[in-house]
Amino acid sequence: MTVIDGKAVSAKVKTEVAEEIKVLCSGGKRAPSLAVVLVGDDPASQVYVRNKKKACELCGITSLEYLLGGDASESELLELINRLNSDPEVDGILVQMPLPRQIDASNVTKAIDPSKDVDAFHPENVGKLFLGAPEFLPCTPAGVMRLLKEYGIEVCGKNCLVVGRSNIVGKPMAALLLAENGTVTVAHSKTKDLKSLAQNADIIVAACGRPGMIAGDMVKPGAVLIDVGITRVDGALKGDVDFDSCAEKAGFITPVPGGVGPMTIAMLMKNTLAAYKKHVC
Ligand code: NAP
Repeated sequence: MTVIDGKAVSAKVKTEVAEEIKVLCSGGKRAPSLAVVLVGDDPASQVYVRNKKKACELCGITSLEYLLGGDASESELLELINRLNSDPEVDGILVQMPLPRQIDASNVTKAIDPSKDVDAFHPENVGKLFLGAPEFLPCTPAGVMRLLKEYGIEVCGKNCLVVGRSNIVGKPMAALLLAENGTVTVAHSKTKDLKSLAQNADIIVAACGRPGMIAGDMVKPGAVLIDVGITRVDGALKGDVDFDSCAEKAGFITPVPGGVGPMTIAMLMKNTLAAYKKHVC
């Protein structure tokens, strides 16, 4: 059994991004830039924003931070996005989720210029992904694909089970596995007999936010277990895969923390670089 080291792969991706930026900017071009918008003072969101800023620094990306109060209106936020959309110095725009109740997240997603949509949540980018011609890949699923690639895990012809069908993880994850010729099943809260679907899977990507949902008796020997889930339980982070009971049967397994989590930010850096190349190069 191999424990997949997301921290190491994430560091490798960030180094690749940093090196490419160094070359691109050596002729005096401005550095890529990422605008991160945070509305309110949710402590978890503040940590995510801080980590994104750190990753930007490491990669040579200028990070621009915009903080709005928790009582900001939707139109205030949309106005800021419009400004960032038309600012030629801004390559990527990321609005940290979740947003306060008075703001409709789907209006915000749709307002971001698709060429600056480094989260790849805009309907245009979602459509391109499902049509097989993506410009940006959604960060978490793209991070999973990179982990599979780094560890030489072939997807073609494999039975792949994605547990969860959210717009940010499950659905795009299924699209990426399908694009690599996996035979993909998507499970959700109405799925009957998850256990037999899991037992038949060569690759399981668990993204349902239910700690320990995938247990050892649900797993085929040698299966690849990718755990996207992150839930805080009694102060500790727990994944959707029960690591202890699954590790002895799996061929490959990602830990939580230190598996998929670090990949998400690394892929965001990659997308910011891709946006920069579109705008500047
Ligand atoms: P979400 O929007 O809450 O979606 C959860 C999905 O799981 C839904 O599709 C839901 O089905 C399904 N589900 C719930 N209970 C289930 C069950 N008993 N059996 C099968 N499916 C079930 O969550 P999300 O945003 O996709 O995130 C999922 C998890 O990944 C969370 O723990 C989140 O914190 C984590 N996450 C991690 C990263 C990272 O960087 N590592 C990034 C994003 C998210 P229905 O559609 O039927 O409700």
